[in-house]
Amino acid sequence: CDISIKFNQGYRERYQQLRRIEQEHARAKAALEVKTRFLATVSHELRTPLTSIIGSLELINGNRLGAVPDNLKPAITIAARNARRLADLVEDLLDMQKIEAGEMVFDLHPISVNTLAIEAAESIAGYASNFGIVVETDLCAQDALIAGDRKRLIQVMNNMLSNAIKFSEKGGTVTVQVETFGQRTRVSVHDHGQGIPDGARENVFGRFTQVDSSDIRKVGGTGLGLNISKLIVEQHGGLIDYTSELGVGSTFFVEFDRQIGDADTDDGGPYLS
Ligand code: ADP
Repeated sequence: CDISIKFNQGYRERYQQLRRIEQEHARAKAALEVKTRFLATVSHELRTPLTSIIGSLELINGNRLGAVPDNLKPAITIAARNARRLADLVEDLLDMQKIEAGEMVFDLHPISVNTLAIEAAESIAGYASNFGIVVETDLCAQDALIAGDRKRLIQVMNNMLSNAIKFSEKGGTVTVQVETFGQRTRVSVHDHGQGIPDGARENVFGRFTQVDSSDIRKVGGTGLGLNISKLIVEQHGGLIDYTSELGVGSTFFVEFDRQIGDADTDDGGPYLS
């Protein structure tokens, strides 16, 4: 009889413990859903006014509303730069939510890797020149095709390139290199910047993480770019990684399987013709 009372007590305690864990889990899940919804709403609500602020500042900066007095120019430039930073953060947050919800749709087409490298290098050249950095390309004689979403892959390239530029010394060179070996093709971004210490991989690819937490203040950034890039590249069946030496520089690269077919020139045709 004693044994049966003890057994029943033990059973009841275990049951209550499980109920508590279940309730805590449900509370945490509900809190996470509220946070996700809140973040999504705020990001969406910020997007439109920010676009209009950036557009207006560009109009003013381009003297299209009349000549801007010299004493106002620095303040307008700072406002425009910070509005763009905020807009980047909002886009990163929206991308993150899309990926988490499985709602990021990839529009796959055959893409020439050499063309991807050229487009990425050309589109970042203006930004690089603000830092006194030259972007070069080192293309592969044997071009390769990959199955990819052009806009998303340019976003990944842009992320690797803007980091390479941000973390380089003024006057440096950043190189986009394309290599093809067997069934694989690789696009690398080499810089001669500050490099990354050993053991920082989690911070590099983590969410809202940076290797040096003072970077947010010094060079900007959200600590989201490479996390999003990794998810995009993995959704393409590829990989993203880096090698680095402190004080010497870093190489970030993406690698994909090669495809057979013709590249889409207008980005609107069917996947693999
Ligand atoms: P952020 O928007 O802060 O640049 P990323 O996710 O793109 O975020 O990068 C995360 C961190 O990885 C950066 O803050 C930096 O500490 C490090 N990192 C990335 N690329 C480089 C690079 N080329 N050289 C040195 N550090 C880098």
